[in-house]
Amino acid sequence: MGKRERRRKRERAKRQRSVPTAVVTEFPPAAPRIRVIVQADQPAEAREIALKYWEVAEDGKWARTVASIGEQQAVSMTATSASHAVLLGSLCASCDEPIRVPNRSWAVKVGGPNLDRRSGTYLCPECSEVQEQERLHRRQAEAEAAQAVQKQEEARAAERDRKIAELIAREGATSSSESSLPGDASLGLSLYIALVNHAAYRADKPLPSVTEVAPAGWTGDSTTDGEAFLDLYRAHLVAIAAETPVEAFVVSDEDDGVRFYRTEARWRLVGSAAFTTATAESITAYLVTGHGPGAHEARQSLAGLVERMETINVISYLDGLLTKKYDYPPVPEGRRQELADVVKKGLAAGYTPGQMICFAWRAADSAAGWKERNAHMGPAEASSGAVTILNGKIDNAIELHHAIPEYDSPRWHQQPLALGALREVNAEARRIRDRAVIDACAVCDHQGLSETDTGTLVRCLHAPDPRQDGAANV
Ligand SMILES: [Zn+2]
Ligand SMILES: [Zn+2]
Repeated sequence: MGKRERRRKRERAKRQRSVPTAVVTEFPPAAPRIRVIVQADQPAEAREIALKYWEVAEDGKWARTVASIGEQQAVSMTATSASHAVLLGSLCASCDEPIRVPNRSWAVKVGGPNLDRRSGTYLCPECSEVQEQERLHRRQAEAEAAQAVQKQEEARAAERDRKIAELIAREGATSSSESSLPGDASLGLSLYIALVNHAAYRADKPLPSVTEVAPAGWTGDSTTDGEAFLDLYRAHLVAIAAETPVEAFVVSDEDDGVRFYRTEARWRLVGSAAFTTATAESITAYLVTGHGPGAHEARQSLAGLVERMETINVISYLDGLLTKKYDYPPVPEGRRQELADVVKKGLAAGYTPGQMICFAWRAADSAAGWKERNAHMGPAEASSGAVTILNGKIDNAIELHHAIPEYDSPRWHQQPLALGALREVNAEARRIRDRAVIDACAVCDHQGLSETDTGTLVRCLHAPDPRQDGAANV
């Protein structure tokens, strides 16, 4: 090589270095599917590798495997860092421009195995970026909206809390000056006596909610309990206790209304202990000795309530025996009405609650013995059989005047909370109207009325009764 020639070569090389241009080639040359762009200023070796890497045959398949070019990883790295390709037949789903790909696997992913798939869901890098931006914006907007909703929710919750607190404050301010008595037919009238009794031994504690004392509850079922409490609430004899859980309230968003679930509220008795005791005593006196149709109606309402409670009490005791002691199912649904009738018959025949407990105990015991002797009998049949047996035992006792002992119900058995107190009031109301008691009394006339010092006729209590101070304490 001559001197001049060497200089030209040097200058050419210098020019190439100083004004680098990218190498652009398309494959296959006859009907190009892919355009390869090798960056300027790449060494010849890298350029060669890149072109071999991207070369495509007539059918759109790669002209050669990567392994045939050289060590795979090195070839891929060199080719992809020195060049990229554009798929001439695969257009961006957004802008319709040919899509640029960084390596073979992306090329196939976008363009298909023959690099000729026209459309798809792929985007060119620019559009991807735009979409990514849009997605980011959307996400931000969503986050802001969610935050706004959360703030709104918090504000609503605070508003709810405020309304509930206001209601509880109002309830706390309810005073006995507003109190009246519920109507004669209301079970609340009777229940109040039981509530005052109950509260006497748990000072400063709210009365539990109906749900908390279910299923036996105060009167034997939650519906009756709830109605009785509502009557007392309207009469301002009970108020919602501050200890009521917030879930018991339903707050209206539209107005200032706060409602509550009558079975979920905890209660306090309105007024001082002296007031509640005096009120309970006057209700008791009204029920026992009151004159007129109103008092009569109240007494009937009490008698009906006590009968229901006694019946429910015996039924639930029998169910408890069958399930707890014998591991049988409770009395089947189809026979419960009949069971109630059998229990009512026993009570109407004059058997005491303790005797009814004895009957139930014996019925369950006999049913279990019967099942033991009959291998084919299942537990459900034994539970059902207990009803038949109970009926037979009561009929027998009535007919043959059997002496039946009184049993105490066991500790696992929960009787309606109001039963003890109201049973007593009811018994007293009946006793002083009992024909035999009136006839035996030396103080009153044949209607059970006696005259006070001032000459008015009152219902005689037929003393001596150690709890009552003679006949004239009405
Ligand atoms: Zn695009
Ligand atoms: Zn008398």
